[in-house]
Amino acid sequence: MSPESDPDLPAGVERRRLDGRDRLATRGEPVYGEPTDGEWRVWDAGRSKLGAMLQSGMDTGLGGGETVLYLGAASGTTVSHVADFAGPTYAVEFAPRPTRDLLPVAEARDNLFPLLKDARKPETYAHVVEPVDALVQDVATRGQAEVANRNRRFLREDGRLLAVVKARSEDVTADPEDVFEAFLDALSGYEVLETTSLDPYHEDHLAVVARPE
Ligand code: SAM
Repeated sequence: MSPESDPDLPAGVERRRLDGRDRLATRGEPVYGEPTDGEWRVWDAGRSKLGAMLQSGMDTGLGGGETVLYLGAASGTTVSHVADFAGPTYAVEFAPRPTRDLLPVAEARDNLFPLLKDARKPETYAHVVEPVDALVQDVATRGQAEVANRNRRFLREDGRLLAVVKARSEDVTADPEDVFEAFLDALSGYEVLETTSLDPYHEDHLAVVARPE
């Protein structure tokens, strides 16, 4: 273990002195203008909800090297960091424009596989995706619990769901606490292990760690 390694972080994620501060970092090609020393690059918790989950000390179960299905990849800010420390990483995104930006990010990473697919229709990518150790979800859309429920089929029995719920995506007028409660009630086939608010990194977002029941 290097002196900077943190036992609470997955192997391949470290706290490094970058940009004059101790920052969460992975080793890989920069993607979104984040500070880099040429080898390690900052994983900005303010730009990444999974980064904020690690920064908050949540027990994600990630150890490094696992197979990951990532739902809501957008242009690759977070999934690029995941691919830096994980094994095969399947990145589902249904909007063509961010997917176009995701392609060069994947070209720089042999283990990152972009899929221009709708996460509400897992049957359309079931022939490509193998069983995964981690299902990471950041779709920021209505019906976030249903997306997690439908994609549970890919999760190994000892795997983890790492989901982020954006309150305003469900209902802009509702109290975020009510939206979070409704999400947890609607999760099916999962046992929730931990929940944490991602404030102040991401306002009105709840992070959830769960395992298959
Ligand atoms: N996870 C990204 C990151 O940290 O770099 C940011 C994701 S952004 C908040 C949410 C993304 O989910 C958007 O790019 C949106 O197009 C995508 N999305 C929403 N609903 C989706 C669906 N049903 N299938 C696939 N992607 C979806």
